[in-house]
Amino acid sequence: MGQETPKCAIIGAGPVGALAAIYAAKRGWDVQVYELRGDLREQGTVPLNFTKSINLALSERGINAMRHSGPGELVDKVLADTIPMYGRMIHGQDPQGALTEDAQLYDVHGRFIRAVDRANLNSILLDQLEGLGNVKLNFHCKLTGADFTRKKAWFESTPNKSRPQTPGREQAASPDRPKEFEIDFDILLGCDGAHSAARFHLMKYVRMDYDQKYIDVLWCEFTIPKASDLSELGAQTSPSAKDDFATSPNHLHIWPSADAMFIAIPSIDNTFTCTLFAPAAVFSRLEQSPDAVEPYFQTHFPGAAGLIGSQQLRLQFQRNPHLPLISIKCSPHHFEGSGVILGDAAHAMVPFYGQGMNAGLEDVRVLFEHIDAAASQSAGTPTNEPIAYTSDKLADALQAYTKTRVPDAHTINDLALNNYWEMHAGVRSPLYLFRKRIEEF
Ligand code: FAD
Repeated sequence: MGQETPKCAIIGAGPVGALAAIYAAKRGWDVQVYELRGDLREQGTVPLNFTKSINLALSERGINAMRHSGPGELVDKVLADTIPMYGRMIHGQDPQGALTEDAQLYDVHGRFIRAVDRANLNSILLDQLEGLGNVKLNFHCKLTGADFTRKKAWFESTPNKSRPQTPGREQAASPDRPKEFEIDFDILLGCDGAHSAARFHLMKYVRMDYDQKYIDVLWCEFTIPKASDLSELGAQTSPSAKDDFATSPNHLHIWPSADAMFIAIPSIDNTFTCTLFAPAAVFSRLEQSPDAVEPYFQTHFPGAAGLIGSQQLRLQFQRNPHLPLISIKCSPHHFEGSGVILGDAAHAMVPFYGQGMNAGLEDVRVLFEHIDAAASQSAGTPTNEPIAYTSDKLADALQAYTKTRVPDAHTINDLALNNYWEMHAGVRSPLYLFRKRIEEF
């Protein structure tokens, strides 16, 4: 590559890939996004591993990365559909068996994190891309190979028979696209999640240290319906219920237990997306005897079953997938100036710190700061004019990115693992409660 506009291939159109495409496009790059699945803005497409679109905790780390994507209303649009969560609500039972709710503020100054619908956030990012002339979205395209020296990548397209082709949007079913095809790129950004194909191919070009761990905890998704739908399910609201929410909408709810945890995050449709985290052995016991699901909840998460309803609790446990949690550390995250991995592809983490997506969005901001700096542009001031980048400058930028980002990624992975203890046990420990009383005093 001489002094010219880079051809940028982005693998994955999840939150991280979509934001990376905005950053690249705002620098005038020629951007092609390749996504394995269909367009999630089309009805019926849900993110892998989720039964519906889930809500996540969005923090300043992620918001800041969107804010730095350049002028526009991106952040305002995203924040408009979020719900502030000012703290945790710890659910339990007093010695007499009465249900208790204990609100623990995140910040004495009232700062908060936000509940955001993942699909909504992702859709807003994709909508932004539609407005940029130098980005093309290619759905149903699976990365199958990459040569980071010759700067070529290979894809398999999976025709989407179920939907008509949307005008102006590339579909793999397109008759002029072969089932397997090859592309050229100057730089490839692998944003294709925890089981990243980009990372797999990058490993053949660089001596990458790689550490992958499955923790002995599985997770399963549940839904608390809105308050007005509870009575027909034989369920009832909690004391902190507000508006049409079955319990407080402005908290991240936790039912801690000895070796397990149940959490609930509010959604803008007045429901809550909940997650059961428990050891694999507990899951296998409950899978074998579904009648034990409700008693298990009554014992370990008092009050939670009452917000969902007995029948729904059992049904959702049986119907929704029981999924593993993976933690990945690797280094370096790049090869020369031609390939780099971001988001879960580089550092999938357990979800207990609520920072997986936030850290992935931050990767994008940090990466482009290094790219801007290497191209002698001032960081954080993108323009719509093409900026010339050479391979050498990109290589310098990716090298600097790995150097600063790898230690941060490893640290946040460790913090996420440690926070499992904090969330399921620490929030009830005498030391924690003592500290809290002192703060209140
Ligand atoms: P992904 O969201 O995985 O997107 C990757 C994309 O790449 C997908 O669209 C996929 O289809 C595509 N793809 C995969 N392979 C290929 C291929 N070969 N070719 C082309 N495309 C491909 N994070 C938070 O910040 N806050 C939270 O509260 C939070 N809660 C969570 C709760 C749970 C239960 C879980 C499991 C995770 C949670 N996370 C949270 C983590 C968050 O979901 C991830 O960190 C985030 O989705 C990562 O985004 P990504 O774009 O890197 O990857």
